[in-house]
Amino acid sequence: MFRVGIGQDTHRLAQGRPLVLGGVLIESERGAEGHSDADALSHAITDAILGAMCEGDLGLHFPDRDPRWKDADSLQLLGRVMWLAGERGYRVVNVDATVMLEEPRLRPYIQQMREKLTGVLGIEIDCVSVKAKTGEGLDAVGERLAVVAQAVVLLERM
Ligand code: MG
Repeated sequence: MFRVGIGQDTHRLAQGRPLVLGGVLIESERGAEGHSDADALSHAITDAILGAMCEGDLGLHFPDRDPRWKDADSLQLLGRVMWLAGERGYRVVNVDATVMLEEPRLRPYIQQMREKLTGVLGIEIDCVSVKAKTGEGLDAVGERLAVVAQAVVLLERM
């Protein structure tokens, strides 16, 4: 049996914050604001997995009022959700994700993000797709105010 899930995440960009995407630290003047490390890509993928299982969302499992998740490594949160997926009898078949960021260009980091995510998702790297888009100077992404990530995942019941 297969189940599909969708995830989306937005974080505001600000000076003096690190920019982490897919567990990779991106060299950038502006980083993402948030309670955890604000890794929008990992959050979108985690939400997509939770969605495929009908297990709520990231905020339900890791509330931002909870000091345990302050500056949390979002790859570890993804790892916890992967543990839950295993408990429920699911494995990830593939992930396809898009990160929307005006600058810097993410192409040099894509392979590293895929490698980090592969390690947590427990699947081959050719099953983890990460794409990068800009906002073409439009909307909050285009105005360099936000980073947005979208993801779909396919789960298979083992
Ligand atoms: Mg988030």
